Amino acid sequence: MQWPTHEVSNQVPVLQDINLYSSDLALQDGLRMLPREGRDRELAALGAEIGSASFLELADRVNRLYPPVLEAFDRFGNRIDRVEFDAGWHALLTAHRRAGMQAGAWFAPGADAHLSRAAAWFLFGQVESGSMCPTTMTFAAVPVLQKESTLFRALAPKLQASVHDARDLPLPQKQSMMVGMGMTEKQGGSDLRSNSTVARPLAAAGRGEAYLLTGHKWFFSAPMCDAHLVLARTAQGLSCFFVPRWRPDGSKNAVLIQRLKDKLGNRSNSSSEVEFLDAWGLMVGEEGRGIPTIIEMATVTRIDCVIGSAALMRHALVQAIHHARHRLAFGKPLEQQPLMRAVLADLALESEAATHLMLRLASSLDRPEDPLERAWLRVLTPAAKFWICKRAIEFTGEAMEVWGGNGYVETGPMARLYREAPVNSIWEGSGNVMSLDVLRAIEKEPEGFALLMDTISAGAAAHPALAALHRRVGEALRLAPQELESNARRLAQDLVLLVQCQLMLQNAPAPMAEAFLASRLDAAHGRIYGALQASSAVQQAILERAWPSN
Ligand SMILES: Cc1cc2nc3c(=O)[nH]c(=O)nc-3n(C[C@H](O)[C@H](O)[C@H](O)COP(=O)(O)OP(=O)(O)OC[C@H]3O[C@@H](n4cnc5c(N)ncnc54)[C@H](O)[C@@H]3O)c2cc1C
Repeated sequence: MQWPTHEVSNQVPVLQDINLYSSDLALQDGLRMLPREGRDRELAALGAEIGSASFLELADRVNRLYPPVLEAFDRFGNRIDRVEFDAGWHALLTAHRRAGMQAGAWFAPGADAHLSRAAAWFLFGQVESGSMCPTTMTFAAVPVLQKESTLFRALAPKLQASVHDARDLPLPQKQSMMVGMGMTEKQGGSDLRSNSTVARPLAAAGRGEAYLLTGHKWFFSAPMCDAHLVLARTAQGLSCFFVPRWRPDGSKNAVLIQRLKDKLGNRSNSSSEVEFLDAWGLMVGEEGRGIPTIIEMATVTRIDCVIGSAALMRHALVQAIHHARHRLAFGKPLEQQPLMRAVLADLALESEAATHLMLRLASSLDRPEDPLERAWLRVLTPAAKFWICKRAIEFTGEAMEVWGGNGYVETGPMARLYREAPVNSIWEGSGNVMSLDVLRAIEKEPEGFALLMDTISAGAAAHPALAALHRRVGEALRLAPQELESNARRLAQDLVLLVQCQLMLQNAPAPMAEAFLASRLDAAHGRIYGALQASSAVQQAILERAWPSN
């Protein structure tokens, strides 16, 4: 449109109505082991739905325009402890549910159910992150609940159901359910042994018995879930409890929502503070074994953090390349400026390596009995959670900068992607805690770790720098305990780089894989995006693969 003062020009067309799957060659290459026909049909349909203008708008709506609101009391002053959401939030949860993201892979037979789910979840994660929280927690609760046969029999149909039932009603009246988790208290989140919430048995004590919980949780995301798995202290120590929103007698359970958190990002998701006033709960798992019980859930949520961060990177990359192809500076599109091309190509390499890592990691859930896959789950889940979630913070900041000032304002997606990134690094175990967990996993599972290192060394032999990195990991493990602990981030980083290099060699075109190895294994490359030493032709090929121009 013509304004009286000036003509609007050189603004970039909105990127919408795109197919997030068909345009992602790295994702497709990473899914080679899935039968192509069915895989392409289903994921392409989902990729088109999630990349549609209307779906993209939902993200803005639920984060910026209509975030959730706490209604603690009704108009008469009675406590109702309810969170009200925009219709867009329910549309997002409906879409997750239709695609089976909340449970399907645990129920569906099929060799690659978790891998397929990771690919679909990666598509959802590119557009709206807040709604992923309750869906991920529900998904991660399934293997814990599966071990409680009586309880699970009643819950399974509601966990599996493909409809989203938002009604605030007792479980028997609902078609489907969501599950959250409550661990973090004011005095400590990483050190869960400091939990002070207590649970008293109503009659008999022990697994499967009913208790009353008194205390609080300082972070309690998605309080509208139909139940939470909650840590509380009994005579035998910390135990895990299934705490429903409504008691079995049909009355509201005493989980009082004190406040919603006013957060940096993830604004569509209602993270709350709660208090338990003799809240009713059933013990899940063995008494006194609450941390190992709930940590099983956390392993799965951590994998979802990796998927979510890889997804943020992918969408930030696509938006950055699109912008650079259309925006002119100094007479040429930004993409044709050599330094900008180096930045974008470097981002594209990082995004592709993150994509392959998240797929490989999630696929180990499909074969948990295999010792190598168990080692992937135990050792590489915390390492990947540490590394990919941290890389996403830098990555989304760099991609935002490609948009210049427009990236920093809320009218486009870049600011939101940037604000989303840090939470994956903080929740479900922050960076240091994840790195220390890598050390613990190596100590507890030496055979699994040795197997993992052997498979990596086989691929590393042909690449001297990769072989040197492999040796460095081995050397680090011989450090004295305190020194080893202070090197835990370095070790986690090195482990991830080792597997990412391998995955790039297996999945990416050779020049891309070589560029990834050459840059990531070169100490002089540093960690700033854009220091990539690759020919202009290779950079061009990397960008064309990352976001095909037609
Ligand atoms: C938006 C949001 C939603 C959340 N939702 C939930 C939820 O639904 N349920 C839930 O239970 N929790 C939830 N959390 C809480 C989250 O899991 C915790 O914040 C996180 O685990 C860190 O705990 P903390 O905040 O108590 O920090 P602290 O435990 O105090 O840790 C602070 C820092 O110290 C580091 N650190 C800790 N121990 C060591 C060590 N030994 N050596 C070196 N460094 C160390 C940590 O890595 C961290 O960087 C949520 C958090 C956020 C931000």
